[in-house]
Amino acid sequence: MRNVFYRVSCALARFMYGRNGSDQLNVALLVVYLFICLLRALFIHSVAAAAFFNILTLLTAAALLLRMFSRNLDRRRAENARFLSWWSPVRRRLNGLRQRSRDRDHKYFTCKNCKTVCRVPAGKGKIEITCPKCGGKIIGRS
Ligand SMILES: [Zn+2]
Repeated sequence: MRNVFYRVSCALARFMYGRNGSDQLNVALLVVYLFICLLRALFIHSVAAAAFFNILTLLTAAALLLRMFSRNLDRRRAENARFLSWWSPVRRRLNGLRQRSRDRDHKYFTCKNCKTVCRVPAGKGKIEITCPKCGGKIIGRS
């Protein structure tokens, strides 16, 4: 039995050699795929809308599989890089928001001029903050 698993994994490794496999864009496509499936299962009751969602899931799955088994690594890497150049700032912002919502000891203010996020200790009452980047004034309650 173990031998069978070994052979299958070897054959799979041979098959995947020189192919794109999984990258961040494919993980994102998988998440989108599962999300669309979930939406369809939970909220879609009309036949026409269900057909539309079926097409969407098919297209997503097709893109995922084509990218995974593709041998055109240059193009797949370029696609992934383009995706990451959009996604990385979004992820950074989401991580920042999550960290801020956990931080009970500080209040965060965003400078109106330059969008710099300024952190000040919480519980100091009404304060005037000078932006460290552009020198603009922010008045807030911490
Ligand atoms: Zn500023």
